Amino acid sequence: MTVERYPHLKATDPEIYDLIQKQSKFEASTLKMIASESYAIENVLEACGSTLTNKYAEGYPAARYYEGNEYIDEIENLAISRGKELFGCEHMNVQPYSGSPANSAVYRALLKYGDKIMGVPVSDGGHLTHGWKVSFSGQDFQQIPYRPNQETGRLDMDEVREIAKRERPKLIWAGMSAYPFKLDYAAFADIAQEVGAYLVADIAHINALIIAGVHPDPVPYCDVVTSTAHKMLRGPRAGFLMSKIEDRYHEQYHPESKWNLAQLLDRAVFPGLQGGPHMHAVAAMACVFKYAQTPEYKEYGAQIVKNAQALCAELEALGRPIAGGGTETHLLLLDFRKEEFTGKDAAKALAKCGIIANFNMVPGDTRSPFKTSGVRLGTSALTSVGMKEKDMKKVAEWIDRVCTHINDIDSVAPQIRAEIAEFCSGFSFPGTNA
Ligand SMILES: *Cc1c(COP(=O)(O)O)cnc(C)c1O
Repeated sequence: MTVERYPHLKATDPEIYDLIQKQSKFEASTLKMIASESYAIENVLEACGSTLTNKYAEGYPAARYYEGNEYIDEIENLAISRGKELFGCEHMNVQPYSGSPANSAVYRALLKYGDKIMGVPVSDGGHLTHGWKVSFSGQDFQQIPYRPNQETGRLDMDEVREIAKRERPKLIWAGMSAYPFKLDYAAFADIAQEVGAYLVADIAHINALIIAGVHPDPVPYCDVVTSTAHKMLRGPRAGFLMSKIEDRYHEQYHPESKWNLAQLLDRAVFPGLQGGPHMHAVAAMACVFKYAQTPEYKEYGAQIVKNAQALCAELEALGRPIAGGGTETHLLLLDFRKEEFTGKDAAKALAKCGIIANFNMVPGDTRSPFKTSGVRLGTSALTSVGMKEKDMKKVAEWIDRVCTHINDIDSVAPQIRAEIAEFCSGFSFPGTNA
């Protein structure tokens, strides 16, 4: 059955209507393997499209600067209480506009201009906001880099400890955008304690795995945990923050302040960095926090990893090496260091055939960040529409065919593209009628 989703757009703004339809069809006829993407659930799409986008609600529940926020307070309180139950955290803030603004709030709350922070460079799988030079975080703060071992692709916690002891950062980021292995938050916490640093986990990429219990839980170990609500979580494009209530470094770093850690963070988000919260996104976040408490969601989280591991095994069996030799998460890095073609060549060829991913540096890469020797593949989106291990076998075969024919890709692309579209038509994609 076809439901008309956007009747007003269709009738009065055909240009935008057509482009939305085209994008939806594209996303429902290709393999979405960008590791940071997935498909938001229907409830999230509906809440995002609601009248809540109209409302100004500067402030926090029961402490607003505008009238008319009775229901808005209930919505934000629901999002917070569901979120706290889901993650078991002491404090939650659901107002950050996205993941980067959530991370900005951490800097704003805890640090002073020029302070030292430890983070992984973008070229090694870290995020822009963890101190990369072109970001405010690398310009206003001093990044002390740490990186996965160039041979094993894994973090060496002894090395992280050495760097921390030598440099004495005020804050350590734990969490990356292109790291296929589990993080040892207990070891990070030990190190942070030893050097007197705040420990902040950024779980944007792995939140559903934590909810499903297939990745260690940072909440007991960290001062602050930041996240996006989109990516694998399947919520709206937004961010959220979790923290302890008390600031264990109050005397050391904030002796003049009358605020605890939770208050410092809240005040950094609003009024420190933002104005009115995006209440349609906050409502949608409440929706995904509810869904994430179901057994079905936990199965989704666990299946993401099973699919990634199945995909790794199939690709390796086809003679396609994987950086670090495998994965414990949702993502893997195809390693093309021995090939004549680059990661960028491969990502372009894959896209021509309907496999959408991104080129990425791999550990020990000798090519430039604009070409790279790797492609990052994630299984969250494919898993969210119900794909399983047997489907990963097909996906691996398509990827292998693309790589084999990379020099005459136009001769095989239409055929592979059609096969993938046919395969995708067997699954149902939220928000599309395609
Ligand atoms: C995606 C991501 C973010 C930021 O997300 P945006 O919503 O794009 O600002 C932060 N940290 C990590 C590790 C990420 O992967």
